[in-house]
Amino acid sequence: MSSSCELCHERKPSLRRPKTLQKICKPCFFDVFETEIHNTIIATKLFYRGEKVAIGASGGKDSTVLAHVLKTLNERYDYGVDFHLLSIDEGITGYRDDSLETVKRNKDQYSMPLEIVSYKSLYNGWSMDSIVDQIGNKNNCTYCGVFRRQALDRGAIQLGIRHIVTGHNADDMAETIMMNLLRGDTARLDRCTDIVTGSDSSDVKRSKPLKYAYEKEIVLYAHYKGLDYFSTECIYSPDAFRGTARAMIKNLETVRPSSIIDIIHSGETFKLSRKARPGRAAGRCQRCGYISSNKLCKACVLLEGLERGRPKIEVGEAGAPDAPPVTAAGVHRQLERLTF
Ligand code: SF4
Ligand code: ZN
Repeated sequence: MSSSCELCHERKPSLRRPKTLQKICKPCFFDVFETEIHNTIIATKLFYRGEKVAIGASGGKDSTVLAHVLKTLNERYDYGVDFHLLSIDEGITGYRDDSLETVKRNKDQYSMPLEIVSYKSLYNGWSMDSIVDQIGNKNNCTYCGVFRRQALDRGAIQLGIRHIVTGHNADDMAETIMMNLLRGDTARLDRCTDIVTGSDSSDVKRSKPLKYAYEKEIVLYAHYKGLDYFSTECIYSPDAFRGTARAMIKNLETVRPSSIIDIIHSGETFKLSRKARPGRAAGRCQRCGYISSNKLCKACVLLEGLERGRPKIEVGEAGAPDAPPVTAAGVHRQLERLTF
């Protein structure tokens, strides 16, 4: 084992880099982590000078690291991008109210304006707490995913913004690929690896600058930089299928450390037959005007069910719910394994 950092060959190493297993020092870790994200941004021409971009901020580790790195790169490389923080208040007592306090501190730490949009204000007074009261603690992520997607778009439009960046990382992407593969959802499989989505069929485009960043490296980066983030789990049960896909990938990783990047690479290079790619007709919801290929958008269908007092979960094609959040204990275990 070398006794100096494998990148600078000068300083003492202080961690084993999860992506490459190299023993490196902290300054080199910050440098490679930030530079890889910069390279992704440049290679995909993600931003243009003068663009207004909203960072979907939950107060969690991914979006906090995203905000920190984007601010750093914007200054270092003079992107000339105007970043805003955009948060959604789902109305989950004991979870989102606390994490929003973190985002409010991030607003000052990163000197970025913050906009908070609540489900209650958008969806006839319904919050996730009242939705779970009505439908029970099952399928809640289906409602939450559909509502959040629309809420982010609406929040961005209110701010005159047409581009939202989210903190989805490489682990999230590998899970999504596996889930779509296992469900036989070829239409989603085809587009889930795109770094930018929605630019052709929606008013607001989405992108994922952290799509190649490993979750473990995000945790390490947040820890070493001393970032202020919130690491408590949502009190409602997360998507069980995603949890299973996650566990499967974690298992694969123990025998093949490059599994995450390998799955993403496979997903990106799949060639699906024309037959497997149904076109997406873009229209408008007759009730709320949101983008929809049906008469009513998914949020309006779900709301209608709630108003009638019976759940309508058969819309099925729900937006992807959050990945099960990493718990404080989980973060601690990861750090113990990775630092020395
Ligand atoms: Fe919403 Fe995520 Fe909680 Fe599910 S786990 S209810 S998607 S915040
Ligand atoms: Zn609608």
